[in-house]
Formats: sequence, structure tokens, C-alpha cells
Amino acid sequence: MADYQVPLKDMNFLLFDVFKNDQLWPLLPKLADHVDKDTSTSILQECAKIAEKVIAPLSRQGDEVGVTFSDGIVTTAPGYKAAFNTYAEGGWPSLGGDTNYGGMGMPKVITSLHEEMLCSADISFSLYPGLTAGAALSLAKHANEELKQRYLTRLYAGEWSASMCLTESHAGTDLGMIRTKAVPQDDGSYNVTGNKIFITAGEHDLTENIVHLVLAKLPDAPAGPKGISLFLVPKLLVNEDETLGDANHVSCGSIEHKMGIHASATCVLNFDGAKGYLVGELNKGLVCMFTMMNFERIGVGIQGLGAGVRSYQNALEYAKGRGQSRSLSGVKSPKKAADSIMVHGDVRRMLLNMKALNEGSRALSLFIAMQLDIATFGEGKIQQKAEKLTALMTPLAKAFFTDLGFESTVTGQQVFGGHGYIREWGQEQLVRDARIAQIYEGTNGIQAMDLLARKVAGSSGQLMSCFIDEVKCYISETNADDMIEFINPLAEAIDDLAHLTEQVLIKSEENIEQLGTSANDYLHVFGYTAMAFVWAKMAEVSLENQSEDEVFHQSKIHTARYYFSRLLPRRHSLISTASAKPDKLFNIQDDWF
Ligand SMILES: Cc1cc2nc3c(=O)[nH]c(=O)nc-3n(C[C@H](O)[C@H](O)[C@H](O)COP(=O)(O)OP(=O)(O)OC[C@H]3O[C@@H](n4cnc5c(N)ncnc54)[C@H](O)[C@@H]3O)c2cc1C
Repeated sequence: MADYQVPLKDMNFLLFDVFKNDQLWPLLPKLADHVDKDTSTSILQECAKIAEKVIAPLSRQGDEVGVTFSDGIVTTAPGYKAAFNTYAEGGWPSLGGDTNYGGMGMPKVITSLHEEMLCSADISFSLYPGLTAGAALSLAKHANEELKQRYLTRLYAGEWSASMCLTESHAGTDLGMIRTKAVPQDDGSYNVTGNKIFITAGEHDLTENIVHLVLAKLPDAPAGPKGISLFLVPKLLVNEDETLGDANHVSCGSIEHKMGIHASATCVLNFDGAKGYLVGELNKGLVCMFTMMNFERIGVGIQGLGAGVRSYQNALEYAKGRGQSRSLSGVKSPKKAADSIMVHGDVRRMLLNMKALNEGSRALSLFIAMQLDIATFGEGKIQQKAEKLTALMTPLAKAFFTDLGFESTVTGQQVFGGHGYIREWGQEQLVRDARIAQIYEGTNGIQAMDLLARKVAGSSGQLMSCFIDEVKCYISETNADDMIEFINPLAEAIDDLAHLTEQVLIKSEENIEQLGTSANDYLHVFGYTAMAFVWAKMAEVSLENQSEDEVFHQSKIHTARYYFSRLLPRRHSLISTASAKPDKLFNIQDDWF
């Protein structure tokens, strides 16, 4: 596989030239004193070094050796422990953490670029710190002071890691059915008993302790999702003097053998009267877990992007060196037996699809991360608007980027021809590793329903209007002649999205099944339109600065043109399927399948 090279120039272009975060941060009081352009630039440079030099080289061996399980003990792949120690010593687990407990308090725009680097380097590795960061966020927001002092500080220090325990064998999407029980004890703790499956980083040898966040129900809890509470269950109990004490009653029953991410430990965890501590209020566990899940969902979206970027870099290097056939328009390399496959229109299509979708996903992910920063650190009206945009766009980030990321890994594989199907070039590993991101953390089908049923229909279209207004405002303010080629199709796409939203909502009042049958295609129409918005913004900045760094800006402008002419039109067929009535899916009786 080609050596991973962090696209730092593009990251800085987006952060400062396109989205002007250096002008935003001073306006957000809780961020202003500890983040600026120089600090964030050097953080990203240092992070790039660890991703390229320490983590990326582990990926192949991690896939081949994987995680091993013996007598309840899980051992990670060779090199993982040393790399994790280097990562922890560098202070990276604290990057986005609460400054009151030892965190660095960096905004989401910085942590999401850090996540992209880790995911491009090795998705399996990225999951250990990724789960920890999500759990820490949930504890910072919902745990009491004692739990925060004891656990949060050690998670930020990288001494301990965390897992997220929701799924049971009979309850995946429908968490209201979970059976894990938590029985109150006299000392204020709870005895947690039940079996969780598919728990990422549930057991491993990277850290001395693991903090499990577990969903469970009290014996007298209300039925369904309203009876779920959240508990912190440590692998090793912690003594009053903060030293590690006895093992808690939680054990790893087995690990899963799976299609990809072989170096990530996916565990069956058995809780047998394990001591647990309540996080947040009783029966409000899903609210607390959603703090973590919303964070994780953007992070999982970025896994798709990370895999897509690696696939593109790999395929581009291969395409430049691979000679097959001659160009249709005449020989390009007469001294060679064949032209490079870069001369073929179909190969250029594949490379440009990946390039445009990756750069568009990175830009859109930063736009969403910025909304999360404003929602978290801002005040007043801009904060309220950012909250709405974050709620609307979180399911989009998870599902759209992972669908596109998987597409890019398969497209990259196709560039290699047969060599993409064999192990040697690493391309088939990317396909296997990227696939899970469409499934876990709430399947993409569930994300689409979250978007259309909960967010769009649930707000009678108001959340979507907030996004549409934002884009219309940009369109009305963008008058330069050289932007017409982008602004006109963007205006058409945003009008179509508004019309589709209205139509789907009207039809869903006649037949509620409309929401379920339209959701996936609707999400993708939204995604391609939102991506056109950020591609227009990138093109605008590159048109203004094209004399400065010609290769970079010409590449941006031409990729923007490619996006508008070859990828944005995908929305047309999606609009027709999203607006079709549900009868074709429901008039077929179950026994006709
Ligand atoms: C490698 C791996 C790692 C994982 N890591 C974790 C972890 O760390 N912690 C954890 O708790 N879990 C984890 N999971 C579990 C994962 O989140 C679930 O597998 C996922 O949420 C789907 O649940 P399920 O497998 O039970 O599928 P089901 O819920 O049975 O869904 C089956 C199908 O039905 C569809 N479906 C279900 N309900 C609806 C609905 N209402 N509307 C429309 N479609 C619907 C789904 O989209 C899916 O296509 C992991 C899973 C894997 C494979």
C-alpha cells in the first residue's frame, strides 16, 4: 500500500481560508483563550507525524494477525501497545477533553481532522481512542463530580480506556428491549448483571483499566426505552486512595471473528453482579448515551472519509505506475509498451469520483464540526441555529460519509483491476475495514429514519428550512461572475431539496410508510446538495487565490467543476425514487417475496 500522506494543505485550506475558524474562535468565549491558528496548525502537524509514522505502518500486520483471545485475555496485534503508549504520552487522548479535568479543550474541527488522520492510518487503531473520547464526553456532561475526578482524568491521561455497551443478542437497533439489570445497593452503587455482545474495545491489553459505559434497567423500571439507565462499570475497581483494587465481576466471554477491522477487539462481555455507578438520572440513560452516540456518529462518518482518502492515495499511485493499452486519442508514451492507465477516461472518472467525494466529505464534515463548536461554545442566536444544524446533519454525517467512503474503497479497488482483489496491495483490506462503518453506531437505514422521520418530519420541516435558508443566504451574497457556473446549479439543487421535503411531508400525512420508503434516498439528496454548497465555497476561495498556489487552486476549481457536472446530477434519480409512493413496496405480500 502507498505510504499514507496526511492532506495537511487541504485541511488548513478548509480550516482557515474557507471556514475562517481563526476569525470564529475569538468570538466563542470558552474557546478564545486556548486555541488559535498557530496552536492548531502545530497540533495538526504533530498529529500528522504520529498518524503517518507510528499508526499507519501497523495496519497491515494488524489485519493479518488480528486480536487473539485465550482464557478471557485479549491480546492486541503486534506493535499496538507500543503505538498506543506513544499516542498517550503525546497527550492525544485529551485533545478534545474538558480543561477542568486535564483535557486540552480543542474544538471539534481540530478533533475531527485528528480522527480523519487516525482513520486513514488504521481504522482498527482509531477505535480504541475513539470510543474513549466519546465516553469521556458523556461523563463530562452527565456524571457527578466524584466520577469525573476519578475516571475522566485517567481517561484523558490515556492510562485507562473506555467502551460503550448497548447491544445484546436480541436487542440491537431496538434498545428498549435490553435485559441487563441493575440492582440498587445500600452504598449507592448498583449490581449490574447481563450479557452484551459486539463490544468494541471491551477487553484488551492497551490500558491497565477499562471503563465500561453500560445501558441497563432497574428491576422496577418502566418498559421500553424510558426505563433505560446508564452505568459506569470499571473492569478493575478503584480504591479510595485512587489505586487500582480488585477485579470487578465483568469478563470477556469471546471475541468475534469478522470481515474487517481485525485488530479491533469486538467482545462478548458478561456482567455478573458487577459494581456499577449511575451516570446522569435514573431512566434517562439514552439521553446520556446519545451525547456519546452523536459524537461517535460524526466520528464513524469520518471513518468512511478516512478509508476513502487512503483508497484514493493508494489507487492514484498505482494508476500512475501501471501501463496498459493505449490512449483513445493517440499514443502518449511512445517509448513504453503501453500508456499509463491514467490516460483512460474510465480510470480518470474513478479517480476523480474519489477525489471529489473525499474533498467534499472533508469540507462538509468540517462545516458540521463547526456547527457543533458553535452549538457547544457559542451564545445567543448563532448558538441556537448551530444546534439545529447539528441535530439535522449528524445522521447525514454518519450515513452519507460512510456510504461514500465505502464507495471510494470499492472504486479504488477497481482502479487496481485484479491486483485490487488480492492481498498484496492492501486495497481489499480497505474495502473490508470500511464496510462496518455503514452498519454500527446505528445502521445507515436508521440514520436515514432519524433524519427524515425524527428531524425533518418531527420539526414539520423547520430544521431543514434552517439549512435551506443558510444556503440561500450564501447564494444571494455570492455575485462574482466566475461563480455563476456553481451558484446556478446550487440554487436549482436547493430549490429541488425544498420541494422534495414538502412533497414527502405531504405524502407522509396520507401514508406514514412514505417516511420509511423515502428515507435513504432523501438522505442522499440532502447529502449531494449539502456537498454542492461546500464545493461552491471551496471553488470561490480558490478562484480568488488562484495566482498564489496554482497547482492546489486549479486542482480545486477543476474538481469543483467535476463535482457539479458529474456527481451532483446523481440527485435527479434519487429525487424520483424518494418521491415515489410507498405502494410498490407494500403492495407485495410477504409470501410473494
Ligand atoms: C464490529 C462491530 C462492532 C460493534 N461495536 C459496538 C459497540 O462498541 N457497542 C455496542 O453497543 N454495539 C456495537 N455493535 C453493534 C452495532 O451497533 C449493531 O450491530 C447495530 O446497531 C445494528 O443492530 P443489529 O445488528 O442488532 O441489527 P438489527 O437491529 O437487527 O437490524 C437489522 C436490519 O433491520 C433494520 N432495522 C431495524 N429496525 C429498523 C427500523 N425501525 N426502521 C428501519 N430499519 C430497521 C436495520 O437497519 C438493519 O438493516 C458493533 C457491531 C459490530 C458488527
